[in-house]
Amino acid sequence: MDDYELAYFAKFKLQTYMPETQLKIKKHLLKQGFTEERINQLIAINPKKEEKKGKMRCPRCSSDKIRTEKVEWTDTTNKIGYEDEIASMDGLTVKVTSKNQVICNVCEYWIEDPNSEKTNKSLWYHIYDTVFHIFTT
Ligand SMILES: [Zn+2]
Repeated sequence: MDDYELAYFAKFKLQTYMPETQLKIKKHLLKQGFTEERINQLIAINPKKEEKKGKMRCPRCSSDKIRTEKVEWTDTTNKIGYEDEIASMDGLTVKVTSKNQVICNVCEYWIEDPNSEKTNKSLWYHIYDTVFHIFTT
């Protein structure tokens, strides 16, 4: 991560970690000169906002470090229709639609959230994330 990405990480993604982990990361960031002021400055400047061509980028931090996960689309607003019901009674499998869930690795912005999982998931979803690898890449 470059300084700008780190700033977005600190401002947005950091709060998804456990308090204890947050503290550790904050200490680490402070050692590297990432005060709150510096973080806000970096976000205000972010030169990546100018780069528009090429890869898919996060609309919030403009990073291209985004991850795509295939998920079964279980949107319940589209209830199984009459025909599907007949199909399942006949022993045919009801088609499951697969959709892409796209999340920014830097600031944890949900670019595509087909199942609205962000709202369902607990804040501590990232407990098991490897935390310190971000400082070495
Ligand atoms: Zn982002």
